[in-house]
Amino acid sequence: MTGETAIKELQRSRNSTDVRVPSEYARQQLIERRETMKKYELPQLPYGYSALEPHYSARLLELHHRKHHAAYVTGANATLEKLAAAREQRNFEAINQLQKNLAFHVSGHVLHSLFWLNMSPKGGGQPAGQLTTAIQESFGSFDALKSQLTEAALNVQGSGWGAVAWEPVGQRLVVEQVYDHQGNIGNGTVPLLVLDMWEHAYYLQYQNVKGDWVTAFWKVVNWEDVAQRFQKVRTLDLALYAV
Ligand code: MN
Repeated sequence: MTGETAIKELQRSRNSTDVRVPSEYARQQLIERRETMKKYELPQLPYGYSALEPHYSARLLELHHRKHHAAYVTGANATLEKLAAAREQRNFEAINQLQKNLAFHVSGHVLHSLFWLNMSPKGGGQPAGQLTTAIQESFGSFDALKSQLTEAALNVQGSGWGAVAWEPVGQRLVVEQVYDHQGNIGNGTVPLLVLDMWEHAYYLQYQNVKGDWVTAFWKVVNWEDVAQRFQKVRTLDLALYAV
């Protein structure tokens, strides 16, 4: 297609009132965009599979990372492809399922990527510095936060996560109980510390004793990582108020 034809096609496409049928030019643009779209990738762990033992067994960690997390990465990429194809064809028949899948898989990828970094063989103990102050302001004490997150995690109905997130409008830390990977969270909050309570996260090692898994998790929490995340997001401004 020459430049002039392309411009005419673009104008025709812009003037068209029928959004259901993309012009050939618009379709080509969409396809090119799809081909250059960034793909999600399974991140490497910052430690070996046996590094968190005995709290998190090597077999469980490897399975969780290489199979479960990988499936969310594959699912996220596949869903983006399907959405791109739907836009090219202006066929949004499956839109509800696709949007749900996008949230599910992308959130699964994000939460697992964060979860691995939230743990460390040198973890455990308590946070230090400004994060400690923020925890005291938001929850009263570290022990109060620990109790709330523990209870939130243990009592998730179905599959889900416990999380500590920064809520930028109220400028406070909050505990969230995440259903699946994406439900029941406050929009605009940023997760800083997450605890996977899906059965695949603990069953192989802890069977049905979820409390033992949560106790083990506290021994590997990488507070340095959480503190660095807190420093990065504490100035986040959603610009919801007029100055
Ligand atoms: Mn998981």
